[in-house]
Amino acid sequence: MGDPKGFLKVKRREGGYRPVEERINDYHEVEIQLDESGRREQASRCMDCGVAFCHWSCPLGNIMPEWQDALYRGDWKYAYEILQQTNNFPEFTGRVCPALCEASCVLAVNDEPVTIRQNEWFVIDKAWELGLVKPRIPQNRTGKKVAVIGGGPAGLAAADNLNQFGHTVTLFEAEANVGGFVRYGIPDFKLDKKVIERRIGLMEEEGVVFRTSTRVGKDIASESLLKDYDAVCITIGARKPRDLVCEGRDTGGIHMAYDYLSQQNKSCSGEKVCRESLIQALDKDVVVIGGGDTGSDCVGTANRQGARSVYQLELLPQPPAHRTEDMPWPLWPRLHKVSSSHKEGCVRLWSVSTKRIESDSEGNVKKIHGVKVQWDKDESGRFVMKEVPGSDFTLNADLVLLAMGFVHPEHDGPVNDLGLEKDERGNIKVDSSFKTSVDPVFAAGDARRGASLVVYAIDEGRRVAAEIDQYLLS
Ligand SMILES: Cc1cc2nc3c(=O)[nH]c(=O)nc-3n(C[C@H](O)[C@H](O)[C@H](O)COP(=O)(O)OP(=O)(O)OC[C@H]3O[C@@H](n4cnc5c(N)ncnc54)[C@H](O)[C@@H]3O)c2cc1C
Repeated sequence: MGDPKGFLKVKRREGGYRPVEERINDYHEVEIQLDESGRREQASRCMDCGVAFCHWSCPLGNIMPEWQDALYRGDWKYAYEILQQTNNFPEFTGRVCPALCEASCVLAVNDEPVTIRQNEWFVIDKAWELGLVKPRIPQNRTGKKVAVIGGGPAGLAAADNLNQFGHTVTLFEAEANVGGFVRYGIPDFKLDKKVIERRIGLMEEEGVVFRTSTRVGKDIASESLLKDYDAVCITIGARKPRDLVCEGRDTGGIHMAYDYLSQQNKSCSGEKVCRESLIQALDKDVVVIGGGDTGSDCVGTANRQGARSVYQLELLPQPPAHRTEDMPWPLWPRLHKVSSSHKEGCVRLWSVSTKRIESDSEGNVKKIHGVKVQWDKDESGRFVMKEVPGSDFTLNADLVLLAMGFVHPEHDGPVNDLGLEKDERGNIKVDSSFKTSVDPVFAAGDARRGASLVVYAIDEGRRVAAEIDQYLLS
């Protein structure tokens, strides 16, 4: 612990964001880093707690106090070495993780938490800049072959670790590029895709083979992988979007959020986008249905495309600004969040339900008909939604984006082809060693746990790799 009194002297300071008037005109990352001395000063706030709750709450078990100390001392090599022991892709989590660690930082009991996420981002970018991130080419190969299906953070972490264990890994990815939702869902203004490309280049040098534009179950038979590989790891994500059920749902101009976001991400990277199916917000009244992060990404994208107005609707009530009794420290609190995209301009409506979508004479969306709702507990303590009488409203809309989450993985493809058992929510069912109902098939990430976070996907990828390694060597 570099400065035992750091937390008493230094206040939390974040890098902040580029000014709205500037950032709204481009897709470059909006968040700014502090300079080196500012960052090191922030790391000095870490109290090196006896029980480090940040370490406990991080799904990856990142060893925060140790690398905060190394960062404070400017020992970049050591900080990076500690960080990469537990996290394959700190450059992803350092940019987009909601930072479960900060919510449980002991300093947050009566002060503001250490800026752990931004510190992580600084350490890993510095490590790349200084050439500390070098290819680690396995010296011995086991002769075992593993197929990984799906190149999101779970599949990438699994492939990375399996390769480091000495197995020969081929990763099959349906899209032209790997990265999953981190590449095609999360907008460039939150995470520049060069960050992914840099990491993939390294993994290629280390020996991972990427077979992109190859959808397993279509371009290559799922069953063939069972013959050609010693183990198969399925990390296809949870990509079946939750749909809106209401009158007028089949009206033109209503799109799934991911279809919209992936087009913009492809355009930013110079990938081909089909002109006929282009979804554009320019000069349109845009209504985003769904109040979460995906919805917020749609808001930021629509504003950059020049939307006339942007509304974001949420069925649930606005969460509280501060912790309440039912979400005490060090648990993760469900609090009201205002993202950088929200600050760029949008009207947020809470506790509203969409009742009907009205179309114009050409069958395109014209208006949304909604109503306010109220959530009350019934006798069994369950929350029940009721419409508020007389609270009906309409909103003009030329483009409606559905951002209501994802229900489970796509079942067409490897899941059905291989006859994998599913759990009650439709995710791939596995045992305690991530093994599915079919030998030697394993599953991890959102495909197994349901739609989640990058940090959980990386963690699952690491854990499934360890299980596959055990299986192959037993
Ligand atoms: C718009 C959006 C914003 C998000 N923002 C954040 C955020 O800010 N912070 C955060 O922590 N999390 C965020 N998330 C969630 C996070 O991105 C996911 O939890 C995470 O990417 C899941 O990783 P995964 O590897 O399990 O699946 P995915 O990332 O979904 O990757 C699955 C991969 O499998 C491929 N695939 C599917 N089927 C096949 C097949 N048959 N053959 C070959 N390949 C196949 C897909 O093309 C994809 O590349 C966001 C998600 C979305 C949609």
